[in-house]
Amino acid sequence: SPVRQPKPKWLRVKLPTGKKYTELRGLVDKYDLHTICTSGSCPNMGECWSEGTATFMILGNICTRSCGFCGVKTGRPETVDWEEPEKVARSIKIMAIKHAVITSVDRDDLKDMGTIIWGETVKAIRRMNPDTTLETLIPDFQGREDLLDRIIDVHPEVVSHNMETVKRLTREVRIQAKYERSLGVLKYLKDNGISRTKSGIMLGLGETEAEVIQTLKDLRSVHLDIVTIGQYLQPSKKHLPVKQFITPDQFKKYEEIGLDMGFRHVESGALVRSSYKAQKHLT
Ligand code: SF4
Ligand code: SF4
Repeated sequence: SPVRQPKPKWLRVKLPTGKKYTELRGLVDKYDLHTICTSGSCPNMGECWSEGTATFMILGNICTRSCGFCGVKTGRPETVDWEEPEKVARSIKIMAIKHAVITSVDRDDLKDMGTIIWGETVKAIRRMNPDTTLETLIPDFQGREDLLDRIIDVHPEVVSHNMETVKRLTREVRIQAKYERSLGVLKYLKDNGISRTKSGIMLGLGETEAEVIQTLKDLRSVHLDIVTIGQYLQPSKKHLPVKQFITPDQFKKYEEIGLDMGFRHVESGALVRSSYKAQKHLT
């Protein structure tokens, strides 16, 4: 049965503080900048922002998909804003971001699935912020290689695509996605010159330890470099329930298993989110 509150103590977080945080928070409010960090009230904001990392979402706030874990609204998406690439690039400049993570809702409604805006956004960021490094956290683009090429062509330093969960739970957790197709996306990226590929999974959805280990093996089999493992938390009562709170020791165990398998980086812990400590993943 689903786990009820209260949350274990390792999930309680301190409110973000610090000079850099206060400064950035002021800019975000003043210029109405859109970061996932603030809209999702991420627990790591103090830490990430003081290191100069932030995550930006492009292509609107409404998604064509309806994953059972995700707090983003589903429905008829907004019209494409062709000025968005410039706006995001400007936000990064105003915030003096050193390492930006760019992500998007899924745009299965568009012929190009949003990949033209994706490419233009990376180019605009490069033009305006030549020293900023980039991670693009992309949808599966339904596995289409010609669309993935638009990302590969602008060569972000890191390209990530999240598996989110183990194979058995994929249907329940992200109904419009496929486990093998996502693995195929990661393989294609790596085979076509992306030097750092990355993926993330959430725990506490009912997966077993053996299934988690199998997922790690599958990710290694496509030569993935970086994996993040965090605790799933229910965004609202309408979302999938938390089946289990994973202990810090268990997260540590997965980290060791992952490092033994040969991943370059494994971030494993209750509060780990896919962009947590993202800057470290450049090395
Ligand atoms: Fe922002 Fe990601 Fe860091 Fe959270 S983990 S503060 S969303 S960059
Ligand atoms: Fe959320 Fe991404 Fe799923 Fe859309 S595709 S519902 S943004 S996780």
